[in-house]
Amino acid sequence: METTNETIFGGSFLLAPIGSQAQFTPEELSEDAQAIGQAAREFVEGEVIPKDAAIDKLDLELSKELLRKAGELGLLSLEIPEAYDGMDLDKLSGLLVLEELGRQASFSVSYGAHTGIGTLPIVYFGTEAQKAKYLPKLGSGELLAAYALTEPGAGSDAMNAKTVATLEGDTWVLNGSKMWITNAGFADVFVVFAKVDGRKFSAFIVEKEDAGFTIAAEEHKLGIKGSSTRALSFDNCRIPKDRLLGEIGKGHRIAFGILAIGRFKLGAGCNGIAKEVLKYTLKYTAERLQFNKSINNFGLIRKYLADMGIRIFVAESMNFRTIGYINEGMHAASWDQPDAAKKKMDIMDEFQMEASIMKVWDSEALGLIADDAVQCFGGYGFSAEYPPEKIYRDNRINRLFEGTNEINRLIIAGQVFKKVSNGTLPLRKDTADLPELGSGPLAKAARAVELAKRQAHYAIAACLEVTGQKLIENQEAAARAADMVTEIYTMESALVRATKMLAAGHRWADLAKACAEVHTNESIGKVQNLARLLLAEVLEGDALATAVADLKAFDLYVPVAGAKLRDAIATELIEKGGYPIEHF
Ligand SMILES: Cc1cc2nc3c(=O)[nH]c(=O)nc-3n(C[C@H](O)[C@H](O)[C@H](O)COP(=O)(O)OP(=O)(O)OC[C@H]3O[C@@H](n4cnc5c(N)ncnc54)[C@H](O)[C@@H]3O)c2cc1C
Repeated sequence: METTNETIFGGSFLLAPIGSQAQFTPEELSEDAQAIGQAAREFVEGEVIPKDAAIDKLDLELSKELLRKAGELGLLSLEIPEAYDGMDLDKLSGLLVLEELGRQASFSVSYGAHTGIGTLPIVYFGTEAQKAKYLPKLGSGELLAAYALTEPGAGSDAMNAKTVATLEGDTWVLNGSKMWITNAGFADVFVVFAKVDGRKFSAFIVEKEDAGFTIAAEEHKLGIKGSSTRALSFDNCRIPKDRLLGEIGKGHRIAFGILAIGRFKLGAGCNGIAKEVLKYTLKYTAERLQFNKSINNFGLIRKYLADMGIRIFVAESMNFRTIGYINEGMHAASWDQPDAAKKKMDIMDEFQMEASIMKVWDSEALGLIADDAVQCFGGYGFSAEYPPEKIYRDNRINRLFEGTNEINRLIIAGQVFKKVSNGTLPLRKDTADLPELGSGPLAKAARAVELAKRQAHYAIAACLEVTGQKLIENQEAAARAADMVTEIYTMESALVRATKMLAAGHRWADLAKACAEVHTNESIGKVQNLARLLLAEVLEGDALATAVADLKAFDLYVPVAGAKLRDAIATELIEKGGYPIEHF
């Protein structure tokens, strides 16, 4: 079955034959997008990276100055509509900017909190007057923003917020507290979530100078030490009635819709810094001699280097694919249309499974890359004098905020279970029509991904038949289903991109092919194991034995020698001194 763009929806990759869905790749970026990426690179290399040490000493004035400089270059207004002096750029250009900004972890968190979770609630949910008042200044950097959802007692369970808002005449009175608020040390505008009359979850715009609003001292953190993180308190904080954002009782739409956008952005930032880590690890392993050789001659060090490159390639393939889907729908809804904001948020809702996959996989890939970097540096990796120590600490936050990775795994699984149950994702449990080995350079890997899909279909369908959507209550089982789906999405994204690069005779097509092959070679085994373990969570006795025997029908992939492929990848990376597939 040939699939067209119209049939692409959240999770549809589980149904469609490999390569039958349109997939955007970074090789197709427009010249305009490349120019924006280049501008961001010049800003980061000229202004941000040289001040790396000062930023990490939590120089808030410096962070403010850098954000304002980013504003002068237009980098704060990428997603602000033109009517409010914004650039209203497509999300693909934004992804390039996020990758570049990601290279300084602390500053990228400040940038992301301001331009993303801080500014976007006003872009999507603000009244005309709110947009006119705040957006031009948020876009220029004259005003800086923060987003305050989390409370001391309400983190993952954000709807359990205790902060309350009561209307007294023309004034909202806020009481309560917030915790862990990024940019709080310098923000002027805070999007704050509170319950009207203690019940109706809603959003408000609070300004720094508002009476009854206080900002605590900086938290002392494990990493991203150059980003400001503080608690807030509201003690009869009085704000004008027109600072309600969106509708009373609809705050969850703002809170979670904006967080979903933040998730794919976080993934892009992770990959930006991963490229930086690869670069300094390649340099060190070339210079460090042991046994009279550069350590990059040793097979196990070459494995670490290749794995870094493979993870970057996979993440990049998946990131551009996901943002391609989101961009297509979001950008198609012009801001001139009266219901543009709703249409755009609906697109985000549709692809929340893919956004969560990006968040989980990219943040965990960066964690592995940071760990491998420490290992490649040996004892020096354990020293604060050498670069891996910083990324080892800085990367850790990515698994915690924008929804912890546990919560995101539950979102992925919950979406799959819901879509299977309502018939949107009809999974097949039979073992007939198994994919044949096709022709072409990546045929074996493509067949592996098809088999992985069928395995996931079988295991998830078999469990849901027994438990229904209650499967989500067995969190270990749900996470196994989420991980299967995630592995499939990563494998397919890498494979389709490599296939396109081969067809186009791209300079790095062989490298891409090797990355896709090694990734598939490892991931397929993970899916097989996850499928068995998922079945064991739900089935017992003969039913389990039969199901495990059925699964063997899909077990037709014969592994390839990974070492040879990795060695070729490592050679290219070492020669180039970095991740070689440049987009501009
Ligand atoms: C540096 C930093 C910056 C931040 N910036 C902001 C910001 O700008 N604005 C903002 O509003 N918030 C911000 N946060 C807060 C962040 O989003 C929360 O820390 C996060 O959502 C987790 O909440 P929590 O810390 O209360 O952990 P908890 O929710 O208490 O979670 C603790 C553990 O329990 C797990 N858990 C919780 N519930 C479940 C469940 N149902 N099933 C399975 N496991 C579960 C979690 O995954 C986690 O492993 C920031 C946090 C940090 C550390």
